[in-house]
Amino acid sequence: MLVIISLDNIITYSMDIKDIYQQFRNNWLVSNLDQETTTLCRRNNIEIHKPDILLPNTPWGDWHWHLANRLTNKNLDIFLAIFLDYKNKENELKKYLEDYDLSILPINLLQPNGVNKFLPRLNLKQVSDPYGVQQEQSVITKIENGRKYYLTTHKKNYATFLPILGSGAGRVYCPMGCAGCYRGEQTRFGKPLSLIRIDSTKEQIWLPDPVTQTKWLVEEWNEHYPAVYDILFSGGEPLMLDNKIWLGILQELKNSKYIKSFRICTGALFLGLPFRFDNEFIQMLKDFRMETGIQIKISAHVSHPEHITPEAIMFARKLLDAGIEILPQCPLEPGINFWQDDLEKNVEILSRLDNLLATTIGIRTYKWLLDMQGRISLLSAIEVWRQVHDRHQGNSDICRPTSFAIFLPQSEGNLNLSYHSLWAIQMQVDRENKIVKYKIPHPARVWVEYVEPLVEGVNDDLGILERLKI
Ligand code: SF4
Repeated sequence: MLVIISLDNIITYSMDIKDIYQQFRNNWLVSNLDQETTTLCRRNNIEIHKPDILLPNTPWGDWHWHLANRLTNKNLDIFLAIFLDYKNKENELKKYLEDYDLSILPINLLQPNGVNKFLPRLNLKQVSDPYGVQQEQSVITKIENGRKYYLTTHKKNYATFLPILGSGAGRVYCPMGCAGCYRGEQTRFGKPLSLIRIDSTKEQIWLPDPVTQTKWLVEEWNEHYPAVYDILFSGGEPLMLDNKIWLGILQELKNSKYIKSFRICTGALFLGLPFRFDNEFIQMLKDFRMETGIQIKISAHVSHPEHITPEAIMFARKLLDAGIEILPQCPLEPGINFWQDDLEKNVEILSRLDNLLATTIGIRTYKWLLDMQGRISLLSAIEVWRQVHDRHQGNSDICRPTSFAIFLPQSEGNLNLSYHSLWAIQMQVDRENKIVKYKIPHPARVWVEYVEPLVEGVNDDLGILERLKI
């Protein structure tokens, strides 16, 4: 019988790590998957393999095991043995990893295409704070003992608070490992969260422990923000905090006078740690909802049809059964679900993802997000949105995302787009600086500017905008 506890042991045994994980997984699935999930997978052509060897107890259902056995910078040999494309860039990769926090969870290693989301992109220059969550004018702080503490991001007139939690000892940490993470400076490159002043200079800011942060935020909230009724906890990965800390956060939230809805923004469900939603945690959420009448929603990051695994389906169904809504959000990302030169492929992959969410779990994507690293043209993205959803052809309304948003650093916040946006956008091609600027009317009755790199044949000609309108 094989008993393999850690990557080090696997190296000792000289075994193929993916085969071992597959056996662990197959064994766990046959013993633990419930009948409903098995049936849903069969109906939707999601394969569940029988194990080749019988292992009585595998650690596959233990999220701590998944964390301990992810590929990190320490396992470069295993990484290079699996991802052969990096072999001839070994030196470049090593240099990149000096600053970069590599993280690929076991379940993702078994996804031939879905894993691309977690492979380091050596030429990616991180966009700093693309959503403006660190901008001074959108941040609420508290001074305590001479230190300025971060409490939450709150965009002007929004009914929501977006607190970033320090999910790794005061650090904005996430083991999901998305290479294009919108908080990549902090999660992948380990930089501290700083405040960005209006003159673009940075100021050091401290993250309180999450329970104290919630307590202080609720005090501010009760005093000054009666119009806010929703709170969206973000990170890093908020679910890296253990259940005891979450219990403390929930206790503090009960003191809020105005809260009606509480959301957690997480990659855990679809990006490799569905097991994090253990019974104790789900019961805590359920009890909180029952006692307070506050709605709970999971904003779940998902990018590729392969991320809709039997495990994710089963744990998502458990959340739904507990009365917790799931709001999947899908970033459009190059090389994962979007290819600038193959719009048909994008349509196929994104349609499959939306369909699977609807027909396996029974939920719909609540948001497409334009890549926050600016590597997809707004024009191509709107064209794909039109093909997948605006035409109402080939796709049922049961899987239609509720919105397609670009996140903007401006304090006006998100902007929802549609095919009709093409008729309102003003486009300016700046060849000298190799950028394209769009002016887009925002419902806040202002024009907002969106800037992206100029790409020949994609956005370098005003005629492209005109042709897309037709
Ligand atoms: S799940 Fe979210 S926070 Fe975590 S790495 Fe991915 S984008 Fe970043």
